[in-house]
Amino acid sequence: MPAFQLTTLSQSSLQDYADCARRFQLRYVERLAYPAAESEPALENEQHQREGEFFHRLVQQYLVGIPSKQVGKLANTPNLQRWWENFSKEKNLLGLREADLTGLYPEATLSSPLGNFRLLAKYDLIAIRENKATIYDWKTYRKRPRNEWLAARMQTRVYRALLVHAGAHLNNGTPFEPEQIEMAYWFADFPNDPARFAYTSAQYKRDWDSLLKLADEINSASLYPLTDDANRCLYCPYRSYCERGVRAGDVDQVEAETEAEELFNVNFEQIGEIAF
Ligand code: SF4
Repeated sequence: MPAFQLTTLSQSSLQDYADCARRFQLRYVERLAYPAAESEPALENEQHQREGEFFHRLVQQYLVGIPSKQVGKLANTPNLQRWWENFSKEKNLLGLREADLTGLYPEATLSSPLGNFRLLAKYDLIAIRENKATIYDWKTYRKRPRNEWLAARMQTRVYRALLVHAGAHLNNGTPFEPEQIEMAYWFADFPNDPARFAYTSAQYKRDWDSLLKLADEINSASLYPLTDDANRCLYCPYRSYCERGVRAGDVDQVEAETEAEELFNVNFEQIGEIAF
């Protein structure tokens, strides 16, 4: 094991390592606090993320059987109202009818050894229906990222691979075949345009092998180089530690902004309980 006491890996920490080893070091090895929000856009981002977290809670409450009308009363901001309205319209199409919530595992957590670490993933929802397992992830992004970008994300790779590797208890004790699995991102502001990713045995093998390789690399890492791709720094909250600028960039690039939202998300996860 490395000198630091990191025992668990998640899609977020793996994504950080893949994007920039230095960011991984600052966040997970040195555990440096994320610099305080200072500007209006940053405060707006925080508000957006709080609302995103709260939206996840609303959906979770619906999925455990609280009536839709009752849950909807808690949507008390314009963003939450719009997202809840979109979800309410689409939930039947997603197969999440109020009258039939069987086979649903909201907020499921799966884990498995990965090299010297434990790989952990918390799913918004795993739906087991008709011999098929669909992973749902709710996204409150301001812009709809490209499918190619989503396909390459650690989340897409980790969530599907881990369900094959550690999801047998959801399938009467038999591991899912990769071909039984699909991952769907549903975008609260783009309700008619979800991104769906099927899975194959070849993809599973590729994913698990590359996750093992990455875990080994992290395990033996002693140097954490700064990324060569300065675009990754534009929205990174650790810019000031790396002399890569103090203020956030203003590029109008969907994926860069989406990555920034993801970075905020991780910080909120680290903060823990969110008052709303
Ligand atoms: S500012 Fe750039 S180099 Fe520094 S941690 Fe962030 S992404 Fe990495």
